[in-house]
Amino acid sequence: MSAPGRGRRDGKSVPAPNIFLGSRCNYDCLFCSGALLDKTQPPEVLRDIIASCPDTLSIEGGEPTLCRDLDIWVRRAHRQGIRDIILCTNGARFCDEAYVRKLCDCGVTLFNVNFPAHEEKLFSILTRTSGQFQKRVAALRTLIAVAGGKRVRLNMVVNRLNFLVIPQYVRFVKERFPEVFYIEFNLVKVLGRVERRPYLVPRLQDAAPVLVRALRYMTRARMKFIIDGFPLCALDGYEHAAIDAAKRYFHDDLYLDEKAKTRKCAGCSLGGLCAGPRKDYVSLHGDLELAPSRKDPGPIIAKLQAMASKP
Ligand code: SF4
Repeated sequence: MSAPGRGRRDGKSVPAPNIFLGSRCNYDCLFCSGALLDKTQPPEVLRDIIASCPDTLSIEGGEPTLCRDLDIWVRRAHRQGIRDIILCTNGARFCDEAYVRKLCDCGVTLFNVNFPAHEEKLFSILTRTSGQFQKRVAALRTLIAVAGGKRVRLNMVVNRLNFLVIPQYVRFVKERFPEVFYIEFNLVKVLGRVERRPYLVPRLQDAAPVLVRALRYMTRARMKFIIDGFPLCALDGYEHAAIDAAKRYFHDDLYLDEKAKTRKCAGCSLGGLCAGPRKDYVSLHGDLELAPSRKDPGPIIAKLQAMASKP
């Protein structure tokens, strides 16, 4: 979940391209970074944000599918010609085929679905629900059938309870949802409820090698992925998959202020592509794990350019 309010792009201050349709949620995820904040925006603010949105709008909550007017706001954004309309959701309502069809018809271009685990017990622990896992799997199948896999991104918030099973998770996705466009891996933020649950925040040195192992499999299996919250020095061989690298290279500094380099970053050859670790991570675990790189950034930049040139 991204920060509300004003953001900065291309050196200019612009409204952050996120709208928040209420703070209610039908889940109670352990790792929720937004749960203590009510970011609900009044209609005039929603209209202003949509009107000033250049090409991408992210629709968030709470759980935005609980908002009765969701379709109205999506339609408004679509009418305005916003190219990418991203719905950030837990996907619980997508067992309703007609509802998914309505959202597609209104103009949602990407469903960003929080899917934190690939097996029942861990899913229940992380979402603090009971008996929901199979329903969520069925809802995802309905979403893919109606919207098409190209409109679906799965989002795994990487935390101490699920990082060890990332390789099994990606195999599950490959087998059960091979059509899914890509998976986003987000290191859990020390915000919201996680501020009271710091045990959920794994060390980079523990989680990153497991993630990299899973990325190797995904590369062989031609699965797509993107990563946020892991600094480049934690992603050996996959630096190009860090959202920050693309943002830095293409001069988009939106939300990069959540991260900062530390003194350990001095002299790192990847400094031009890296925004540094998350500030909240360093406050909790310090920066001793950062490893200034001597790699040539050229090959990473070439991969970023190749990725950007693909449709
Ligand atoms: S040492 Fe610092 S600048 Fe270099 S990759 Fe790591 S976090 Fe980024």
